[in-house]
Amino acid sequence: MHAKVVVVGSLNMDLIVRTPRFPVGGETLAGHGFATAPGGKGANQAVAAARLGTTVAMVGCVGGDAHGAELRAGLLAEGIDCSAVAKVPGVATGIATILVDDAGQNAIVIAAGGNAEMTAERLADHDALLQAADIVIAQLEVPMATVEATLVRGHELGRTVILNPAPAVGPLPAHWYGLVDYLIPNESEAALLTGLPVDSPETALQAAQRLLEAGARRVLVTLGSQGVLYADGERHMHLPVEPVVAVDTTAAGDTFVGGFAAGLAEGLPLEAAIRLGQQAAALAVTRPGAQPSIPHRHELPA
Ligand code: ADP
Repeated sequence: MHAKVVVVGSLNMDLIVRTPRFPVGGETLAGHGFATAPGGKGANQAVAAARLGTTVAMVGCVGGDAHGAELRAGLLAEGIDCSAVAKVPGVATGIATILVDDAGQNAIVIAAGGNAEMTAERLADHDALLQAADIVIAQLEVPMATVEATLVRGHELGRTVILNPAPAVGPLPAHWYGLVDYLIPNESEAALLTGLPVDSPETALQAAQRLLEAGARRVLVTLGSQGVLYADGERHMHLPVEPVVAVDTTAAGDTFVGGFAAGLAEGLPLEAAIRLGQQAAALAVTRPGAQPSIPHRHELPA
């Protein structure tokens, strides 16, 4: 089986503690409860693309611990090709410790662990996956050199290259823009990349235009309950959404990216692929957790 979509990125175990409020330095608090859930932007996007109906391969690294085995088993259960998910002994699997207070606010600390071992050399070992794919997706939770190698190789092979520049870490190397077919930042990432405030379809268009001037080919800015702003060199459009009451917005952006890629992989026109991502993301925000919240295709309107 050749996977149509290859995701090069992170796998994390989310360790979620509910707390009445955030502790201050040196303080110990009693929390309300604890849960673990599979996450990591790369793995979330892979799961979204798979649940929305396309074939997916994941390229990443976990540690030799129980979290790594559980994350890998979870992806395999989704039918995702994990032949390029390496287990690195002696290293901890990536984790995100997430505090959620009674007001629903998050405070998150990520320890990259195995994700830092996802090197460009390891990617090169799995070049056959990129050669066989239609679409290659990257984010910024593995080393920048690996992201760069993914974009360079995907572009060289003529694959559709998607970059979700998340988390917001700083400006992107200027030559990356021309390697990417679809750049998909959220509001804060678009703001960071451009230095412009982004909080509406109008300001997102200004940011998108700035990114096009920088060399981007097609830009999709996700705007939470305000939907998505699309722009390329010729046209732009705002695709609004029916706002839903958010229970947990973790993985909203990842579900959008994976769903959009699944739509492109099945040959949907651009607007329909965006709608697929939006419908999936809207459902994901009504449910708790990262991967557990991502819907299957049969749950969406036809
Ligand atoms: P991120 O999780 O990266 O911050 P966004 O918050 O922009 O991403 O959400 C991604 C997509 O999820 C949005 O473009 C939208 O389609 C959908 N979405 C997010 N929040 C809502 C909401 N409250 N109602 C409906 N759709 C939403």
